[in-house]
Amino acid sequence: MEKKVLVIGGVAGGASAAARIRRLDENAEVIMFEKGPHVSFSNCSLPYHLSGVVEDSDNLILIDPETFKRRYNIDARVNQEVIKINRHKKTVTIKNLVSNQVYDESYDKLVLSPGARPIKPNLEGIDQSNVFTVRNVVDIEKIMSYIKQKEIKDIAVIGGGFIGVEVAENFRLADYRVSLVEFADQIMAPYDYDMAQILHKEMIDHDVNLILNDGLDRIGEKHIKTQSGKEIRAEAVVLAIGVRPETSLAEDAGLDIGTTGAIKVDHNYLTNDKDIYAVGDAIEVYHRLLHKPTRLALAGPAQKQARAAADHMYGIPSRNQGVIGSSSIHMFDLNAASTGLNVRTAKEAGFNYDYVYIMPKDKVGLMPNSHSMHFKLIYEYPTGKILGAQAIGKGNVDKRIDVIATMISMNGTLDDLKDLELSYSPMLGTAKDVVNHAALVGLNLLHGRYEEVKVSDVRELVENDAFIIDAREKNEYQAGHLKQAINIPLSEFRERLTEIPKDQPVYVHCRSGQRSYNMVMALRNLGYRQVYNISGSYLGINMYEYYNDLVTDRDRIVTNYNFN
Ligand code: FAD
Repeated sequence: MEKKVLVIGGVAGGASAAARIRRLDENAEVIMFEKGPHVSFSNCSLPYHLSGVVEDSDNLILIDPETFKRRYNIDARVNQEVIKINRHKKTVTIKNLVSNQVYDESYDKLVLSPGARPIKPNLEGIDQSNVFTVRNVVDIEKIMSYIKQKEIKDIAVIGGGFIGVEVAENFRLADYRVSLVEFADQIMAPYDYDMAQILHKEMIDHDVNLILNDGLDRIGEKHIKTQSGKEIRAEAVVLAIGVRPETSLAEDAGLDIGTTGAIKVDHNYLTNDKDIYAVGDAIEVYHRLLHKPTRLALAGPAQKQARAAADHMYGIPSRNQGVIGSSSIHMFDLNAASTGLNVRTAKEAGFNYDYVYIMPKDKVGLMPNSHSMHFKLIYEYPTGKILGAQAIGKGNVDKRIDVIATMISMNGTLDDLKDLELSYSPMLGTAKDVVNHAALVGLNLLHGRYEEVKVSDVRELVENDAFIIDAREKNEYQAGHLKQAINIPLSEFRERLTEIPKDQPVYVHCRSGQRSYNMVMALRNLGYRQVYNISGSYLGINMYEYYNDLVTDRDRIVTNYNFN
């Protein structure tokens, strides 16, 4: 007998599930309900319409209902909201939002992919016409027509997560004056505080008025007020402070909700009703490193879950390994990507961990467009099991992070990563790729071959008059250095050993950690016992210090910044 499958939600998870069901079963009747006017649009590309990178908002829509019907024989019904699931009758109740007609449709199997809605806090001014959120094509068109019609120049974006950052970036690219307000002490939570400083600098370099450690208090017609009392000019406000899973339909139908507040599903994305599946932003998933449920609002997982749910419906088994959380973002001239745990989440979860922070070249240095890549690798101590990584730079950070994501998924260790055979050509990478390099540094640390201090420790060292050697050449030192660092270049230190004390800790840095590492190893060989490499070196120190130097009146620890 022909199967009747209903799908709620017509975008990432919903459209993927419907299409997979059709591929598995040409005879099934598949109806997909979407309360908005469009199905299958590119949520992830929405911010790019604000800058004109995606010129025409119609291009955000990948497939229209007619094409769904013609190509896939899927009945995609837009402007139709499912308002109730009647489990005992195996029907859903739908409201046609254009005609207001209400009707029921029966199902054999039901797939929920209703997504997550932007959080709107209860604040003064929140319902004004100049306050927006970004979830769909209609939202982005509303913003565009408002700011054009009112000839708006000043925009505040609230929230420094993926959506907030992309919205802020695209408004700046279109030359609006943009303030970005974030409650935490950093934007982009997947990144550690030290790595986030690089992103903060990028924001400031592109004239985003970045306000951290402050929340939105109220919204006026031309200004917003922050919780610390700052008044910021903003004729339009975009809220991007997070999303909440759409669970009301499921809850009303008595489907289980998990500890994270999202719909609970089993290994096969089945809810506690054997005929109802749920996927995407509305569900909670299993974190394979933290061993507990989590929420992960990303497009890739939504599509994979949709396929797995459809497969299960047709008896095809799939392996649910849980998630590790891999993501990437483009920000002005930088790319950033991360996977797995960061130091914060590893610490919270009680892992015994250490990490490597390096900045090798992403391509052979002679090649055009060769840049330093800031790369942080987190691993478990003493097993060397890889827990996570973050990469920021102008080049292919995503390639490196995808390698690490693969390693994590296969329970890889630093030894596995060290030996990993990767492709190389000078224009594309280096013979010892960034990720191999990180593994070598990690193994040196793991085996106690040398010791290091972190970039976040340097201020305290400087303030406490520690003995710091700057191993760069004289001209580099003169262009900017740590305030009381002594310049003993790697090329001279063997003749100047008398200047280096053996009876106190000695800290060594250069530009990127390469020369200082060589000096540290040599000094250890010469009997120095308290000698430490400064991880991150001068480039990392500058990145780490810059934003807070700018926004506070503290003393700088460098004579001059140098970001090259
Ligand atoms: P959605 O794709 O949101 O689809 C849910 C649909 O269900 C909605 O259209 C909604 O209208 C409809 N619906 C809800 N309730 C009902 C109902 N009762 N009846 C009928 N229809 C209903 N992820 C990435 O991995 N990378 C990115 O770069 C990225 N960028 C993003 C940028 C933006 C601006 C946004 C908003 C999201 C971005 N995401 C990104 C997240 C990604 O889009 C989501 O994780 C993904 O779309 C989730 O799929 P879903 O099917 O669960 O929900």
